[in-house]
Amino acid sequence: MTRLSSRHISQLHLYRVLHAVRRNDAPMSRGEIGASTGLSQPAVSSLTRRLLENGALVEVGARPSAGGGRKERELALNSDFVWVVGVNISLFQLTVTLTDFAGAVRATRNAPLETPMTKAALVRRVVREVRACLVDLGGVTLAGIGVALPGFVDSLGDLVHWSAVFSGSGRAAGLSEAIAAELGVPVFIENEAKIRALAEQWFGRAARSTHAAVITLDQGLGVGLILGGELYRGRAGLAGEMGHVQIVAGGRPCHCGKRGCLEAYVAHYAVVEQGREAGLLPASRPLLPQDIEPTYTRLAETGRRGGAKARAIFERQGRLLGTWLGNLINLLALQLVIVDGGQHLAIELLEGPLREALDEALALPHRGKVPVLIDHEGGEAWARGAAALVLQRLDESAEVMNIASRHGDDLNTTTTPAARRAAA
Ligand SMILES: [Zn+2]
Repeated sequence: MTRLSSRHISQLHLYRVLHAVRRNDAPMSRGEIGASTGLSQPAVSSLTRRLLENGALVEVGARPSAGGGRKERELALNSDFVWVVGVNISLFQLTVTLTDFAGAVRATRNAPLETPMTKAALVRRVVREVRACLVDLGGVTLAGIGVALPGFVDSLGDLVHWSAVFSGSGRAAGLSEAIAAELGVPVFIENEAKIRALAEQWFGRAARSTHAAVITLDQGLGVGLILGGELYRGRAGLAGEMGHVQIVAGGRPCHCGKRGCLEAYVAHYAVVEQGREAGLLPASRPLLPQDIEPTYTRLAETGRRGGAKARAIFERQGRLLGTWLGNLINLLALQLVIVDGGQHLAIELLEGPLREALDEALALPHRGKVPVLIDHEGGEAWARGAAALVLQRLDESAEVMNIASRHGDDLNTTTTPAARRAAA
């Protein structure tokens, strides 16, 4: 077991205080922070004093104390303490966001992207778009950049094992290092579904769940798992790739290079291909990534108007997903599942069959006990996840507190943690 130094323990406690305040919907008194973290009142007083001094927390008001004595001051996050850049890479679009310390998105910038592309070309595009977005940074310190992309991503090893974003073998090593070298701030990459799971755990509906899954269903089928209160990455970051569970030996070709993966039957591209095979959509030319969502929507409209063949495709999509979700809950005894099907998901066509199949697949002790939410949180949920990724990874390397301890010195926009380290 790794022994923690007293400095590290103190940083861990600072982080626990910050995290307790972040997860609470309203400002907190020191007494509430103590109750929430299990830290003693003297410890909470000392930790909150440090966080107030370096600007991570602010006092926002006072309320009468429970004992009728002196009024208790309430504490909240200082949303301008540090900001984080989020970069979301899809197969046809690059989105850059600026998120503040409390998880609010302050600026968003979208640009079209033509994939597959080389790593060097992607780095150039990311650097250009991030620089354009940083014009909006004002006088706030940038903590780092979190990059979300689809595929098999080893966040800790800075390795994309495979992503449909990249040409050739789909592999890219050192992506975050290459972006960091250009922009001079810490950069962390992560699979997009894992980033969504972090967003729900830090800022969203999974804040009180220790065992939860976030499913992203659009151009692929991604799974982000929170197990035992932590984002579960597994060996080489490969955990959660349940979208590539093989359901038909030698079945439909999947983007990942295998055949018969569930994704190859239920992702939006797969639904569109089934629509083309059924003669419901023109099949004259190969589909480009940017065509898939509009074509999926067109097929859904045919189903809504009563087209039996189209309805059958969505019903099958729903049934396959329901069975699979039931098995996932059985395997991991999850408390909560969130399915984000993107803004185009034909929810009214597939939800009935999905819930029926789910109920059938669930082990009896789970039936009626596990909420499965199917919706679309909007395009900004991943940006909060990117912020959570950066703040968490910086915390793991104790960097957040380095930012904290030096924050008061200088609020210059160009002064990044890396630049400060170089100057120190
Ligand atoms: Zn696959």
